[in-house]
Amino acid sequence: MGEITRALISVSDKRGVVEFARRLRDFGVEILSTGGTAKMLMADGIAVQEVGDYTGFPEMLEGRLKTLHPKIHGGLLARRGNADHDRQMAEHKILPIDLLCVNLYPFAETVARPDCTLEDAIENIDIGGPTMLRAGAKNWESVTVLVDPDDYARVLQEMEQSHGGVGAATRFHLSTKVFAHTAQYDGAIANYLSSRSLEGGQSAFPQTLSLQFEKVQELRYGENPHQAAAFYRDGLGGGLADAHQLQGKELSYNNIGDGDAAVALVMEFQEPACCVVKHGNPCGVAMGQDLLGAFQRAWAGDPVSAFGSIIAFNAPLDAQTAELISTQFVEMVLAPTILADARPILAKKKNLRVLAFEDGRAWQRPGWEYKRVRGGLLVQEFDQAMEMESDWTVVSERAPTAQEQRDLAFVWRVGKYVRSNAIVYGREGQTVGVGAGQMSRVDAARCGAAKALDLGFDLQGAALASDAFFPFRDGVDAAAAAGVKAIIQPGGSIRDEEVIASANEHGIAMVFTGVRHFRH
Ligand code: 5GP
Repeated sequence: MGEITRALISVSDKRGVVEFARRLRDFGVEILSTGGTAKMLMADGIAVQEVGDYTGFPEMLEGRLKTLHPKIHGGLLARRGNADHDRQMAEHKILPIDLLCVNLYPFAETVARPDCTLEDAIENIDIGGPTMLRAGAKNWESVTVLVDPDDYARVLQEMEQSHGGVGAATRFHLSTKVFAHTAQYDGAIANYLSSRSLEGGQSAFPQTLSLQFEKVQELRYGENPHQAAAFYRDGLGGGLADAHQLQGKELSYNNIGDGDAAVALVMEFQEPACCVVKHGNPCGVAMGQDLLGAFQRAWAGDPVSAFGSIIAFNAPLDAQTAELISTQFVEMVLAPTILADARPILAKKKNLRVLAFEDGRAWQRPGWEYKRVRGGLLVQEFDQAMEMESDWTVVSERAPTAQEQRDLAFVWRVGKYVRSNAIVYGREGQTVGVGAGQMSRVDAARCGAAKALDLGFDLQGAALASDAFFPFRDGVDAAAAAGVKAIIQPGGSIRDEEVIASANEHGIAMVFTGVRHFRH
C-alpha cells in the first residue's frame, strides 16, 4: 500500500483543492505547491512549501518555468525501495513525491472563445503540468496521480481506510486516466494549431485530426453476431451515451444506431410526435393531439414494418400510450422521460428496452459525423441545415393550398432521415408510405406508393417529399398515378423543366427547397 508522505499540488481548476489539501495535511502529508495554488492554500491556513523554496530555483519566465526541475521530476520518477535510486536521490537531496495533484491550463476552453488569438492559445499550452503528470503516471507503482477533482474524494476515502495509503488498483486506474487526459490535451493543441495559419486564416478541419472517445460499454456484438463491437462517448456526452436505461435487455449495436436516428427525427417536431424506426429508416412518423394519437398514427403508417421496431417520442411518455405500446412487439422505446404511472405498465414487458434520454438538445447540437473507409476517415458536419419555408419556391402553375403546404413541410422533415433514394408520402401529419434506400428515385417513388396502397391508404391528394431532385419525370409520373397532388424536392436537375411539366400536366403543386438531404 503506497503510503503518502509528500504531495505536490499545482492546479488551474481550483475546485475542491483547499478541502483536499486540508485533508491531506490531516494525514500528516507534506505539501509542495506552485505560485497561485500555494497562495490559495496558505490563505486558508494550510501549511505548504513553495516549489521554488524546495528546488532553490525560482518560478520565472511569466510562469512558463515553475516545476521543471530535477528535484521535482526525480521525486516523481524514482523507484521506491530501489537502493541505487535511493542513493542517487540522497546524493542530490531529492525527496520522494508520492502524490501528484495537477490539472492543466484551460487550453480547450481558451480556444473555444471566439476572440482567442494565437498568442492566447500558445500561452495556454501547459508545459510543466503534463510533464509532471506523465512522470507520475509512468511511476504509478509509487505515485498516486490526480488530474480530475472528481477523484479527490475517492483517494481520501481510500487513505482513510488504508492508514494513509493508496492501493495499486487505484494508482493504476488514475495513471491510465492521466495518459488519456494528456493525449486529449495534446490532441486539442494539435487540432487547433493545425487548423490555422500564421496569417490568421482558419480551416474548419485540422490538418491532423486527433479524436478521443471514452468507452461507455462493450456490446454483445456489432451489426451481426460475428462482429465485435463497443459504444464510445465523445467529450461532450449527452445523447444515447448518457440516456438512462430503465428496463429491458442489454442495448445492442443496432438498437443504439436506430435509437439515435429515431430521437433525432422526433426532436425535429414541436408538436407531440412519434417516430417508428426499422433498420435505420423511419417506417412511420406522425404528429398528434397527444402522444397517444401520435403513436397510433405513426404505427398505422406501416404496421407491417413496425413489428420489432424502435419507437421514439419527443414528450414524457404517459400511461395510456405505454398501455397501447405494450400490446405490440417493440424492441425499444425512447422518450425524454417515462412518467411514473407508465413505468409499471412497460415493466410487464421484461425484454422491452426503455430509455429516458432527458435532454433532446444533444441531437440539435452541431457536430461532426465520421465514417470509416479503408485507409481513412470521412468527416462531415451533421445534416442540420436550418431551413425556412420562406426560402422555398413554388415552381408549378398551381401553388400548394394551405393544407398541402403543411403536408409538404411535414414530409420534408421526415425525408431528411430516410436513406437515399428517399421518397416519403404523407398527409395531415402522418406518413403513409416510405420508399427508402432504393438505387433509383423512380423505384423509391413506386415502392412508397405500393406500400401505401398495400396498407389500404388512399393517396388521392397526398403530399410527397423527395430527398434529392428527380433526374427524370418518371418519378413524378409514378407519384401522380398514385394520386399525389403536392411534391417537395430540392430541384436542380438539368431536366427540371421536364419534371415541372409533368407536375403541371397532373395538376400537382411543386415546391423547390434548394437543399438536398442525401443520407447514405
Ligand atoms: P498556479 O496557479 O499554482 O501558479 O499554477 C498552476 C498551473 O501551473 C497548473 O495548471 C500546472 O499544470 C501549471 N504548471 C506547473 N508547473 C509548470 C511549469 O513548469 N510550466 C508551465 N507552463 N506550467 C506549469
